[in-house]
Amino acid sequence: QEQTFVMVKPDGVSRGLIGPIITRFEQKGFKLAAIELLHIDRALAEQHYGDLKAKPFFGELVDYLTSGPVCAMIWQGEHAVENARALIGKTNPVEASPGTIRGDFAMDIAGNIVHGSDSPASAAREIGLFFGRHAAP
Ligand code: ATP
Repeated sequence: QEQTFVMVKPDGVSRGLIGPIITRFEQKGFKLAAIELLHIDRALAEQHYGDLKAKPFFGELVDYLTSGPVCAMIWQGEHAVENARALIGKTNPVEASPGTIRGDFAMDIAGNIVHGSDSPASAAREIGLFFGRHAAP
């Protein structure tokens, strides 16, 4: 079955939203395949968002992601990538529909509380970045 990478960002963790976010994935029908609370360093944040290096907000984005612990997760299920993106909602919480995670829990794009892979290829890359070092053989 397809896997996707989901990360509760530091503001989601500090606001106590790991539980509600996990609940939504479980209720939808996803199976949790891996989970880890970790404080990422700038190098990992820069690698994770490598395709955004040229953006004016890149430095701010790396500051944000390294400002506290994140909760990294692998969720598994049918069309996992697309189903997770639908649960999470649009990147900008202003545009995210109520009923989505960002629509219900976030106000601003610079604090949108959660990340989900945008394609199966991104999911494989991000799972390798976050879980590759100590993944089961
Ligand atoms: P994510 O990769 O976090 O799931 P996304 O794929 O929906 O988000 P991207 O366009 O890849 O959206 O942007 C990655 C992240 O960069 C966003 O989630 C947000 O935290 C941050 N970001 C995007 N645009 C802006 C902006 N204009 N100002 C500040 N931060 C931004």
